Amino acid sequence: MHTPDDHTEIRDAVRQLCRQFPDEYHRRVDEQRAYPEDFVTALTEAGWMSALIPQEYGGAGLSMAEASVIMEEINRSGGNSGACHGQMYVMNAIVRSGSAAQKQRYLPAIAAGQLRVQAMGVTEPTTGSDTTKLKTTAVKKDGRWVINGQKVWISRVQHSDLMILLARTTPLAEVQKKTEGLSCFLIDLKEAVGHGLTVRPIANMVNHETNELFFDHLEIPEENLLGELGKGFRTILDGLNAERTLIAAECIGDGYWFIERATRYANERSVFGRKIGQNQGVQFPIADAYIELEAANLMRWKACQKIDAHQNAGAEANMAKYLAAKASWEAANVCLQTHGGFGFACEYDVERKFRETRLYQVAPISTNMIFSYVAEHVLGLPKSY
Ligand SMILES: Cc1cc2nc3c(=O)[nH]c(=O)nc-3n(C[C@H](O)[C@H](O)[C@H](O)COP(=O)(O)OP(=O)(O)OC[C@H]3O[C@@H](n4cnc5c(N)ncnc54)[C@H](O)[C@@H]3O)c2cc1C
Repeated sequence: MHTPDDHTEIRDAVRQLCRQFPDEYHRRVDEQRAYPEDFVTALTEAGWMSALIPQEYGGAGLSMAEASVIMEEINRSGGNSGACHGQMYVMNAIVRSGSAAQKQRYLPAIAAGQLRVQAMGVTEPTTGSDTTKLKTTAVKKDGRWVINGQKVWISRVQHSDLMILLARTTPLAEVQKKTEGLSCFLIDLKEAVGHGLTVRPIANMVNHETNELFFDHLEIPEENLLGELGKGFRTILDGLNAERTLIAAECIGDGYWFIERATRYANERSVFGRKIGQNQGVQFPIADAYIELEAANLMRWKACQKIDAHQNAGAEANMAKYLAAKASWEAANVCLQTHGGFGFACEYDVERKFRETRLYQVAPISTNMIFSYVAEHVLGLPKSY
């Protein structure tokens, strides 16, 4: 099995780049609710964002294990991969399901950092986790697709050139299985916005650019269908294990950040005439969080290993994301508690990371949906919804 030490070179190189963007940088971006453009550009120019694009298209062609180290190190440095992780995995749908022409057209440009493809439009306001009931439609008319409907929580739209959209092409009542009749499309955002697509940003708890989207007779070319007609659910699903595994690695990075900060503070802060870290009431929760994090990390490596061996990693990717999100959240809570009142002060960065890591128990899939997956697909229990 892979261990973190297998990837020292990548780890050190990403760490070195991240050092140019210290706490103050990420704090300022958070305060200003800005996009960390310099940071994302530096990561892109160094080639890290094209880690998973095959070499024949100009990417680095790295393994999932290696790519996950990049994400882990970004978060471990105090940064937030949420600003850019889409660029690493959304294009996976093009790699796996795109036509030869689409691959040639888009992948080299994504690999070169000329094209950002970091938005994926799935969630809708009235159907939420019940994805197959989504109501956005794409109908063929005069050789073009006409899209109508609404999406919510669609991230990084304002920092993407292309978005991958999931829409219904055959009404639910006319398909045998509810997963059928959905299709994926490539949306050129620069062309679409103002011509049938309206984007409304959602103010939220973290500095995460995410939006409501309104489609009103948006027309796109016929060739923008991505993958097989009616099989879009599969196209999206194929990429989800990579997404979950990378996000697990980000949570692991967050978790180490929290443990390191908690430990440092507990070793420095003195009250009652001794370091607070000398109290078992302070040190045991940190040790507990560290043990949970190390255990979660094992599942992350197992998911990477299965994906890299081209095996079905559905269970491991889901379990890794669940365990890592839980462990990072526990570490966040312990870190904040260890800092006492100072945990609430923005200049310590704990409250920012605390908010950021909380997201991963809700998105991109909420914890209950992971329990459902494991109950049904691993344990053979009846489908509960
Ligand atoms: C910051 C942010 C960024 C996001 N980015 C994107 C993006 O880029 N693209 C995109 O498509 N989506 C995105 N999402 C959406 C995200 O994937 C959804 O919020 C998430 O999947 C949950 O859907 P929902 O919010 O509609 O909750 P709901 O489906 O309404 O669920 C609400 C709660 O009820 C629980 N629940 C619902 N049904 C059941 C059941 N049958 N059994 C047990 N529990 C149940 C859920 O687990 C959840 O806790 C983002 C969300 C956020 C907050």
